[in-house]
Amino acid sequence: MKKETLWQEAIEPLITEDIPKHLEVDTLIIGGGIAGISTLYELKKKNETIVLIDQDQIGMGSTARTTGKLCYMQELCYHKLEKIFNFDTARLYLEASIDAIKQVKHHILTNQISCDYEEVDAYVFTNDETEIPEFEKEEAFYEKVNLSYQREEQIPLDTPVKYALKTSNQAVFHPLKYLSALAKLSLEQGKKIYQNVRAQTITKIGEHYQVTTDKGTILAKRVIVCTHYPFFIHPGFIPFRTHIENSFITTTNTNENYHFQAITSNKPTDSFRFHYDDKNYFLYAGESSKNSNHFDYEKRLEELQQKLYLDFKVTPDYIWYTHDVMSNDSLPLIGPINHKNPNLMIATGFNKWGMTNGVLAGMILSDLIEGKENKYAKLVSPSRKINMEKIKNFFIDGYTSTKSIIKAKFIKDQPFYQDNVKITYEDGIRIGIYKDEQGNLHKVKNVCPHMKCNLIFNYIDNTWDCPCHGSKFDIDGNVLKGPSVYSIKLKKNKKE
Ligand SMILES: Cc1cc2nc3c(=O)[nH]c(=O)nc-3n(C[C@H](O)[C@H](O)[C@H](O)COP(=O)(O)OP(=O)(O)OC[C@H]3O[C@@H](n4cnc5c(N)ncnc54)[C@H](O)[C@@H]3O)c2cc1C
Repeated sequence: MKKETLWQEAIEPLITEDIPKHLEVDTLIIGGGIAGISTLYELKKKNETIVLIDQDQIGMGSTARTTGKLCYMQELCYHKLEKIFNFDTARLYLEASIDAIKQVKHHILTNQISCDYEEVDAYVFTNDETEIPEFEKEEAFYEKVNLSYQREEQIPLDTPVKYALKTSNQAVFHPLKYLSALAKLSLEQGKKIYQNVRAQTITKIGEHYQVTTDKGTILAKRVIVCTHYPFFIHPGFIPFRTHIENSFITTTNTNENYHFQAITSNKPTDSFRFHYDDKNYFLYAGESSKNSNHFDYEKRLEELQQKLYLDFKVTPDYIWYTHDVMSNDSLPLIGPINHKNPNLMIATGFNKWGMTNGVLAGMILSDLIEGKENKYAKLVSPSRKINMEKIKNFFIDGYTSTKSIIKAKFIKDQPFYQDNVKITYEDGIRIGIYKDEQGNLHKVKNVCPHMKCNLIFNYIDNTWDCPCHGSKFDIDGNVLKGPSVYSIKLKKNKKE
């Protein structure tokens, strides 16, 4: 079974120059996933230096680990948004998601991008009677906005269904083929991309921001942070406004020839689609969980495989693990981080719908930078008004974070740790030790540099993972994924 993602296999690395040690730019975008690359491509400002940096190859973050659905029918979100905010807010988010899909189609047609784009119907369904009232509320919302939909008794697969809603004009695509094409077009427009450059700090100096990286410094008039999870805590306090949810995605070769996408409404959700390039694939995402809930990834993976076999009679060829940032009021956080920092912008909290919300981020952020009105900017602004749901979830997210910290802190050896993983203390420092197949010991600090959570060993990826905010480190302590920007190597607490 392969653990790399299906998407990564099709992509040639983008060749870019090395970054100079000191750089002065007008706009710096940090992070080359769907949000960062969409923003880079959308920026049309002439006579300005626009630079994007990524700590890795572009596109190798969460965008390489998605199911790749372009979807406005995002589970049963609209009646929930109507309850949290009001009808107009829910309607506007629907419009924004539809516009994001149209934008992708527009770029594909204008630039003849070959990215296996296919328009398909989308289903949201349940096999649980108790969910039906929720479906009826969602249907009532569709009626009010005049959205064309159908109520169905079945979905095209042989899966038990109690209630299903179907809408059209949605799509699936190969996210990395699309992203690579936009990156190449951006380079042709004269914008710069530097890869393998990790941003570590951002400091406001007068009207500018100084960004230190592991390769030097960058002085920028404006900084757009598209790192999936912002790597700094203040300003913005994102850890208190979001939580992390993780899942597994599997793909299986299939002889079937279906053309639709589907998701269940009940938790944990089952989400699936089909993909066609030279072969046919069935993609399935399942076993989603809050990061703090289940640390034994191997057990979850086993359960997922059993479920896949029982429900769909398939054994996967590829399996990968991924997570996304969930906002506490179900809308993404896109725009200036606060009123005091109009030129420090973020794009995060995509609630597992980053293919549309990342594209939306590109549309909004580029308009804000170019001084244009954008009708969705207020809707997703990180400074949007507080409401009861936000207050309630502020405490829930705070509790989830604290629970992760406590669970990881006080449980030294997790019950599922095998003989090859040990937690110990040396000179008062909590240490994680992994013994490889050759018997070599790999010792690292067992504390995440981001917010000091203790790390859990992930037997699927052979990594140390932060249960609080999703940072990931290899067995030798190198940081693979943020928000941490520092390693957990033992060398006298030295930063990388
Ligand atoms: C199970 C699952 C299924 C999903 N399926 C879908 C789907 O079908 N449709 C959909 O719309 N959404 C889906 N999503 C959500 C979607 O995958 C994400 O929301 C989206 O990929 C996030 O994109 P991004 O650009 O914000 O982050 P990323 O793609 O992670 O990009 C961030 C980039 O920033 C770089 N970076 C990070 N830190 C630094 C730093 N300090 N310095 C420099 N660079 C840095 C990283 O290397 C990375 O390239 C799914 C999520 C999950 C969990």
